[in-house]
Amino acid sequence: MSKKQPLIPAFDEKVDLRDYDPDYTGKFSSEDEAEHDRKRDLEKLHKLQETFYAEQKHSLLIIFQATDTGGKDGAIEHVFRGVNPAGVVVTSFKKPSEEELAHDYLWRVHPHTPRRGMISVFNRSHYEDVLVVRVHDLVPKKVWKKRFDQINDFERMLYENGTTILKFYLHISKGEQKRRLESRRDDPEKQWKFNVGDLEERKYWDQYQEAYEDVLTKCNFEHAPWHIVPANNKWYRDYVIAKTIGDTIDAMDCKYPKPTEDIASIVIPD
Ligand code: AMP
Ligand code: MG
Repeated sequence: MSKKQPLIPAFDEKVDLRDYDPDYTGKFSSEDEAEHDRKRDLEKLHKLQETFYAEQKHSLLIIFQATDTGGKDGAIEHVFRGVNPAGVVVTSFKKPSEEELAHDYLWRVHPHTPRRGMISVFNRSHYEDVLVVRVHDLVPKKVWKKRFDQINDFERMLYENGTTILKFYLHISKGEQKRRLESRRDDPEKQWKFNVGDLEERKYWDQYQEAYEDVLTKCNFEHAPWHIVPANNKWYRDYVIAKTIGDTIDAMDCKYPKPTEDIASIVIPD
């Protein structure tokens, strides 16, 4: 087993993704071994979300980023299956529309941040505007360079106004991406996800890694931490994410709201 690997990089660390093993599975050496903890932490998360939702005091923004086939959809499906769907909104950020492009890049994001009691899950996010936009020169460097500070300001503003922020980068290897693309090509239940464009993007693997390293270095703060989730093993990925979200909600110490008046004596009419 490899040495203990941090989930959140040190806040002053210059992240080099080669230092992070995408095959890392922490204290577990197999899926079977992790099964008990994984189930327990998923159930704990689902229970905690009930009080989080009922209390309507805190809001939670969860951002998922990864290269193509990194497992964003799968992680969201597995971690949030079982939570009260009324309390979770998933927003997937695709190629911007003409109208979105006619605004600043945060314009389309802000309306989807969570209200109190809600969990907003971002499948991709404003980080695309320093990732795909950078790798493909969609705007000049002098424009995207400024966005790290802008994003940090935006997230700090959300935090200072009561939003808890968790960011997950799902870290897979290039070999694992190849296997996943092959399985999308060959498995009839996955072929709908096969996108020839992903092969084009794969050519930019190194540029994406570099762009991600900048994001993980420049936008990592205690109030909005990046988690580098070892994601070659889906079961470990889901375990880590569920545990992290569960621990975060647990720390909020949510309580069911007390009735505003004495309701014990109220008679319910027939
Ligand atoms: P998927 O998540 O697989 O459905 O793909 C969504 C696509 O939208 C990806 O290729 C992203 O790179 C792209 N995308 C998301 N946000 C942006 C953005 N701000 N600018 C350009 N492309 C984007
Ligand atoms: Mg895709």
